[in-house]
Amino acid sequence: MLYKRPFVTEEKRVNRKKIMNDRCRNNDFEYNRDYMSDIPNGLESGNKKTLDSGTNYDKIFIWNMPYVSTCPGMTKWCINNCYNADNREDVYPIKQWIRNLHDFLYQKEKLYEVICNQISLFKGQKVAIRFHSSGDFFSVEYIDFWIKIAKRFPSVHFWGYTRSWSVSSLREKIIELNSLGNVTLFASVDDFSQIDKFEQLNKSFVLEKENFEKIINNSNYFICPEQIRLTNGCADCGNCITNKAKKDIVFIVH
Ligand code: SF4
Repeated sequence: MLYKRPFVTEEKRVNRKKIMNDRCRNNDFEYNRDYMSDIPNGLESGNKKTLDSGTNYDKIFIWNMPYVSTCPGMTKWCINNCYNADNREDVYPIKQWIRNLHDFLYQKEKLYEVICNQISLFKGQKVAIRFHSSGDFFSVEYIDFWIKIAKRFPSVHFWGYTRSWSVSSLREKIIELNSLGNVTLFASVDDFSQIDKFEQLNKSFVLEKENFEKIINNSNYFICPEQIRLTNGCADCGNCITNKAKKDIVFIVH
């Protein structure tokens, strides 16, 4: 099997756990107005995984929030494995993500306009927006914000993987967002998730190498082809963006 990324090392896991535990202990930045910006930056361009454009999409945007503080469905698994728990600010720009949270909390209307303008620049092109390579849906008001944008741009696709399905006060809103014809959400699941009775969303699993290899030929699951070098990224593949396969999706931990 030709894997795209090096497997996670024990050293990396220890480091992630330390960063995550520090973040959990010092989780006060959402009230720090020093992070405010006059004009919100809005959406980021696609990354190495999603690509910025590809054979199926002309433009991919990503929207990120700070991990931990916007992750009400966070599990023990996240503490050990969150790939955003990495101090390389050039790759994981946490300050920008904190600023995004501030923009939402303190100047939501301005943020709405900036995001809508960014999307409008690509009118007539095939655009997709990835929710949260960092962070998650953290409040009803926040999910409503995205429902409003998704309804305003019915030809743009929105997709993401969320653990907020496990938060009872958010579950109905998550389902409402997912019910829009241009939104696909997957319920992220791990060994610590209580998902037995949750059937409204397809699920996403991140597996250790051994378990990933056990499942790779199981046709009940869609194996992310980017991880085994069968596609360059989401803008080429597009499976999750519209849930083409209508299957649970499987990734490998890295
Ligand atoms: S399955 Fe396709 S769309 Fe989904 S994450 Fe992998 S490359 Fe992206």
